[in-house]
Amino acid sequence: MAGWNDSDGATVVVADIGGTTLRIGRWDAATGRLHDVTRHAVDGLARYPQEPPERLQSRVLAQLGDRLADYLSTCPEARTVGLAFAGPVDDRGTVLAAPTIWGGGGEPLDLGEILTRRLGRSVVVANDMTAAAWRYAAEETEGFCVVTISSGIGNKVFRDGRVLVHPQGYGGELGHWLVDPRPDALPCDCGGRGHLGAVASGRGLLAAARRAAVEHPDRFAGSALARPSADPEAMTCEALAEAVRAGDTFATDVLCESLRYLALAISCVYTAIGIRRYVVIGGFAVAVGEPIIEHLTGQLRAVGCFGLGAEEIGQMVRLGATDDDHCLIGMGHLASRDTAGVQLSVVGER
Ligand SMILES: [Zn+2]
Repeated sequence: MAGWNDSDGATVVVADIGGTTLRIGRWDAATGRLHDVTRHAVDGLARYPQEPPERLQSRVLAQLGDRLADYLSTCPEARTVGLAFAGPVDDRGTVLAAPTIWGGGGEPLDLGEILTRRLGRSVVVANDMTAAAWRYAAEETEGFCVVTISSGIGNKVFRDGRVLVHPQGYGGELGHWLVDPRPDALPCDCGGRGHLGAVASGRGLLAAARRAAVEHPDRFAGSALARPSADPEAMTCEALAEAVRAGDTFATDVLCESLRYLALAISCVYTAIGIRRYVVIGGFAVAVGEPIIEHLTGQLRAVGCFGLGAEEIGQMVRLGATDDDHCLIGMGHLASRDTAGVQLSVVGER
């Protein structure tokens, strides 16, 4: 059995915490494989919606400490823990906000430092999209942008060995970029309206499809989406994704209209900083599959990318892996790199 003395830094315990689920696994940097992933319901807003952010912070912190300590007891050779977190994180591992985990508000939390002290291991904390970008750093040969399309939209740009964000965590929030200024535009999770994440996410597409069904009942009646129920409110994201896959005209038109906004955002990022590769991940993108890449590319060609021809634009967007392990695998890459290249102090020894 491997012990502390056998450690070469190849094993990293990786974790990913979102609004509902905490997952913990073991990353073997030598083989590039993820093992023994466990799942836990998060002791946050989803379970205790009435509690204030301060109380939820304590609960989540205790849960992370306990679950990670348990997991580390099964693989003592791991000297580093990598934690992907659903919220902005600064470059010292301080979590600045976590609306889906402990709600709006709550003081910044020095999560990296607190967990390092508690676990006696170096703990690297990064934003979840930053972690996801690290997964693709090994595959992509030039700078790229990861875009997630799920219940919202997120992004991160990776170039020259790092994710491009402000040291205090700003950046990668294309989902909250205003694309529809109308006062009755679709509401966003953040409280705003007409943001890209409200319009072009899975949830946004569903809302747009329901609205289109009411505004154009004749077109909706000809769609497979109207067959189980003619009530637009009965439509689901899954049915919408399935209809797009099957080439349904109504569903495809709604998708393309929403993807137009995403294409504008991509064209803007490209035009501003010259990033030509976009890796699309996220539950809704995976549910639709390759057709979402074809339609997004079509919209990107219509919008245009200054200096690029139709064929070059055709190479810009690709679908990422269809599993749900982006953050865990990416955290494995990021934390292994930190173990090899950066001396992280164990705060308790200071
Ligand atoms: Zn927003």
